[in-house]
Amino acid sequence: MKIAILSRNATLYSTRCLQDAAVERGHTAEVIDYLRCYMNITSHNPQIIYQGKLLEDFDAVIPRIGASNTFYGTAVVRQLEIMGVFPANESQAISRSRDKLRCLQILAKRGIGLPVTGFAHSTKDIQGLIDIVGGAPLVIKLLEGTQGIGVVLAETDQAAKSVIEAFRGLDANILVQEFIAEAKGADMRCFVIGDKVVAAMKRQGAPGEFRSNLHRGGNAQRIKLTPEERSTALRAAKAMGLKIAGVDLLRSNHGPVVMEVNSSPGLEGIEKATGTNVAAKIIEFLEKSAAPNKTQDRIKY
Ligand code: ADP
Ligand code: MG
Repeated sequence: MKIAILSRNATLYSTRCLQDAAVERGHTAEVIDYLRCYMNITSHNPQIIYQGKLLEDFDAVIPRIGASNTFYGTAVVRQLEIMGVFPANESQAISRSRDKLRCLQILAKRGIGLPVTGFAHSTKDIQGLIDIVGGAPLVIKLLEGTQGIGVVLAETDQAAKSVIEAFRGLDANILVQEFIAEAKGADMRCFVIGDKVVAAMKRQGAPGEFRSNLHRGGNAQRIKLTPEERSTALRAAKAMGLKIAGVDLLRSNHGPVVMEVNSSPGLEGIEKATGTNVAAKIIEFLEKSAAPNKTQDRIKY
């Protein structure tokens, strides 16, 4: 196969591993900086030009689109889809997963376990919003934050009110969530490829930190999921239309709840914690699934 890896930086761990795994399995893999791609959107003959050359004859594309470049990155993936290239994740599914609110709405519709979550536009209704999640302590999140930045724990209703007003004053979109204290600063990252969880790790936040993100100083260990956790992760990825996903779960008193579903989950943390060659499994998945013109997103929302 000829595989395109859309990534801004060929030296990133995840990008390197994917390229090495593809080559080891007998494929060619080219790293393409999607922000440097430009497109010719013509009837019958859609094209992408990169470094002065047409991108041609690719069998599959692995999008690794950064959160701040979702708009342009997904346009490049979409163009490749239109050209018939098989995407590891489809452009629609990537866009969908980048909006935490949309993601939660879709998961809720499928009956997947979630923390109780509220969302409002106007600050006139703050108390109502706080009441939805059962009062403080509660978590306030920026809709498009990542790596734990923009996630705040408010210990009192008064603190919650001030933070919500401050975020809304900056015109930021936020959601308000029940605080799952019993998770004790830990979450579980389940790495889904196709219809399998291929690796799972427990991330524990630094002492005194409720956010378990590795970028915020958390540490990671391999973990064995319960059958319920495994099926929750698979259902969440499927609901979002993602074939490759990092599904984050919290262990709550009312069973596993989904925090978020990532469409470009990092490989370094999970490979180091579990010893699983996740990159090779992604390439294997492409070997089994890639076929021309095989995009199939059927999710309505
Ligand atoms: P980000 O996209 O920035 O990673 P998350 O929604 O995943 O944002 O939140 C970051 C971390 O904060 C989670 O991994 C989890 O450890 C903690 N966290 C988030 N929401 C809650 C919650 N409702 N209850 C308890 N912990 C939470
Ligand atoms: Mg997260």
